Amino acid sequence: MRFETLAIHAGQQPDPTYGAVMPPIYQTSTFAFPEVGKPGEFDYTRSGNPTRRALEDCLAALEGGTHAFAFGSGMAAVATALALLDTGDHVVVHDDLYGGTYRYLTTVSSRQGIQVEFVDLRNLDALRAAVRPNTRLIWTETPTNPLMHLQDLQAVGAIAREHGIMTLTDNTFASPYNQQPLDLGMDISLHSMTKYINGHSDVIAGALIVRDDALAARIKFLQNALGTGLSPFECFLVLRGIKTLSVRMEAHNANALAIARWLETRPEVSQALHPFLESHPQRDLAMRQMRGGGGTFSFRMRGGGDAAVRLLSRVRLFTLAESLGGVESLIEHPWTMTHASVPEDARRAMGITEDLIRISVGIEHVDDLIADLAQAMGTDG
Ligand SMILES: *Cc1c(COP(=O)(O)O)cnc(C)c1O
Repeated sequence: MRFETLAIHAGQQPDPTYGAVMPPIYQTSTFAFPEVGKPGEFDYTRSGNPTRRALEDCLAALEGGTHAFAFGSGMAAVATALALLDTGDHVVVHDDLYGGTYRYLTTVSSRQGIQVEFVDLRNLDALRAAVRPNTRLIWTETPTNPLMHLQDLQAVGAIAREHGIMTLTDNTFASPYNQQPLDLGMDISLHSMTKYINGHSDVIAGALIVRDDALAARIKFLQNALGTGLSPFECFLVLRGIKTLSVRMEAHNANALAIARWLETRPEVSQALHPFLESHPQRDLAMRQMRGGGGTFSFRMRGGGDAAVRLLSRVRLFTLAESLGGVESLIEHPWTMTHASVPEDARRAMGITEDLIRISVGIEHVDDLIADLAQAMGTDG
């Protein structure tokens, strides 16, 4: 079955008790044992819950996995994935990644004796050179936030397999609709479901999706041992969000690309960074590995930081806020908001400067969104 159908039906049969068409919220911590010493299918919600099972089965189907796991946040998924590593292991990480993942790797994993090495994974020779005998994991995130760099997942996966190294992609920005990391050869796909998968800016949640049974068993063990699983009510909300994922992503993809093209025509804008624009240096790769360009991208104001702050304070329909992936449009200033905790030198070296603005384009009418940006730039568009 195709994506649109799986998003609505996978993992969800009418409930056996009363035939409820939507998966009920099994809001219980514990389950009665039918017999002494013999639990039923579920015994305790930290270990498993029918509402969570429905969500996890749906997620696995959406990315061609055999197993998926839902977590209390994207960061809980990150922490659980990194708990697969042992002291002395080496992990190669793309050098431009989500700030919370960077913080976890540099302050928690490093203290646990895991060797963390940041490499520009757009450069495959640099990846080959970084591989050591104790390299256990290659961590990709594509496209990256906020600079929209891509990594070639098929090429990274091929190098990893030569050396028997596990691979992971943080697929949050693309969403399962636009990119399928397991099909491209990755072992683990990670999501902050807070973003596109839930899509309504009302839940914090994360996921890991895999194909390999042994890897799934280890993640299942860790989800229970660490207690990072998602609560039944949040699972219900995410399942509800997923039903419209394909139609939402079509609208996000179309609106964002139209706005990126419009921005490129504006004299106030010096650059638009969107993977499906002809001007993007990795557009061929984007077209090969993604179905659509997604709803989130960045652009630079020719007038620098002052022009950026002026635009950000004048928008009315776009809300000035962090996060992304919801039905409503958001706008933010990486320099002072999402990336303010990255040291200033590092921010400049990466290209995250005062003139940069990131937008999460929602599914409102694109003409209203463009009109808002135009009025904020001080013209009628
Ligand atoms: C938001 C985000 C995370 C962390 O997810 P939370 O749900 O906020 O914990 C991880 N990776 C990426 C790319 C994100 O955008």
